[in-house]
Amino acid sequence: MEEERLLVCARCSGGYPTSEPRWRCVCGGYLRLKQDGAAFPARDLGRRPATVWRYREALGIEDERNIVTMGEGFTPLVGFETAGAAEGRRLLLKLDYLCPTGSYKDRGSTVMISKLKEWGVTAIIEDSSGNAGASLAAYAAAAGIRADIYVPASISPGKAAQIVIHGANLVQVPGSREATAAAALKAADKTFYASHNWIPYFAVGLKTAAYEIAEQLDWEAPDWVVAPVGGGSLLIGLYLGFQHLWQSGVISRIPRLAGVQASGCAPVYNAWRAGRAEVLPVEKGDTVAEGICIANPVRGNDVLEAIRGSQGVMCTVTDEAIWQAVETLGRRGIYVEPTGAVSASAIDALCRQDVIRPGARVVAVLTGSGLKATDKIVDHFLAAPAHA
Ligand SMILES: *Cc1c(COP(=O)(O)O)cnc(C)c1O
Ligand SMILES: [Zn+2]
Repeated sequence: MEEERLLVCARCSGGYPTSEPRWRCVCGGYLRLKQDGAAFPARDLGRRPATVWRYREALGIEDERNIVTMGEGFTPLVGFETAGAAEGRRLLLKLDYLCPTGSYKDRGSTVMISKLKEWGVTAIIEDSSGNAGASLAAYAAAAGIRADIYVPASISPGKAAQIVIHGANLVQVPGSREATAAAALKAADKTFYASHNWIPYFAVGLKTAAYEIAEQLDWEAPDWVVAPVGGGSLLIGLYLGFQHLWQSGVISRIPRLAGVQASGCAPVYNAWRAGRAEVLPVEKGDTVAEGICIANPVRGNDVLEAIRGSQGVMCTVTDEAIWQAVETLGRRGIYVEPTGAVSASAIDALCRQDVIRPGARVVAVLTGSGLKATDKIVDHFLAAPAHA
């Protein structure tokens, strides 16, 4: 018999039915989806659509009529020739910026918005550093859900434009990403708070990144998967997805996960390096990788668990290394925003330190399109030096 699906609190273990809207436990803890789905027929997916919904049994939606989809997922996995320190490693790039709204966040949004529709929610408040807001605005529009999206005033205009064109109400908050979250939460006593960092169905959608990577490698796990860590939903989703495939006997081991943070904002890395089980907030983050500038990640402890559980590592990269990766990828025809290049920017150092050994098969997830951050890219590569 199938185990009952429940939303379970990470702090007090309180359980809630999945049939009612809820974004956190009464104790204030965040929720995880327990028993998030049945196994899908991994070796018999042939006729299913080339979207994340080919794995629909594992995505927690009860009634398929509630699915809100725009063909997201099944992004290319392409080989990338390595040189220098990374020579001898078999590097593959997962081009996850090729989702409908230009970032991998669509994997989470399609599942989360489908669940909100299933819950009968008609209006939401969300806060975001930009890409989640753009993505949720798009899927809310497709679902006919009204959305107020709170963002830091400093976000890239490209992301703000997306939010506006999808008909959402854009609220720009001065100050830090944390100030934005606080403002959204304050406004959420009247409207449902659909934060992608809190609602567990967002990370459930990100399991599909793992399913796809495994399927594209003919159900053989790579040795390493390298991904940026901000709120951590991508890294947690990868771990949940690979764990599910491993427990179902589809793959024979879980790949080691490397989580990459910017050196200017690295709360999860700090906890990992100190051997702590708990992530403490950093004072104030600052990095060109705006999508991962999160000083106090809600699910930080789950990221640590995923890293340790996969025998992986956390590491940091400088803004200089991130820009270098934007350029290196660009010279090979791949156009990503700084945050989208973070995983690639860590490869060299991980190889130089021999964490990733010669012969290893490595997947780096590229998360956001360069078209998102035209202004920053122009400033960095085209504008004249600013000093007088
Ligand atoms: C949100 C975002 C990230 C960080 O992902 P988390 O799941 O929050 O850790 C990385 N890259 C891009 C482009 C993003 O928009
Ligand atoms: Zn609780």
